[in-house]
Amino acid sequence: MTDTHLFTNHMYCSDCGKGMWYRQNRHGYICGFYAKHGTIACTNHAIKEQDLKNVILRRIKNMAEFIHEQGLESKLRNLDQRHAEHSQEELQEINEKLAGHLEKSVSTFIY
Ligand SMILES: [Zn+2]
Repeated sequence: MTDTHLFTNHMYCSDCGKGMWYRQNRHGYICGFYAKHGTIACTNHAIKEQDLKNVILRRIKNMAEFIHEQGLESKLRNLDQRHAEHSQEELQEINEKLAGHLEKSVSTFIY
């Protein structure tokens, strides 16, 4: 029976595009193409699971701070259900702010 790891099949090698596989002896993920075929397939891309968890947790905290700073949770709570069209516009605005912030933080996440 194999261990399932949180990020298996959710990360892809930046060179070959194949999924990253968990390896116990590396305490993290390596390029699946490299794992299967060696250096003729790809290079030895790797990331430790703990480093990945730390980075993702930092991003989540950063996003939560952004939501708080922008007062987005109270905006969401106060969406006016009686005026659906107005609420739709507000929701769209909140969505764009979150997407913009996410894009900024993801671009600094790429190694
Ligand atoms: Zn690769």
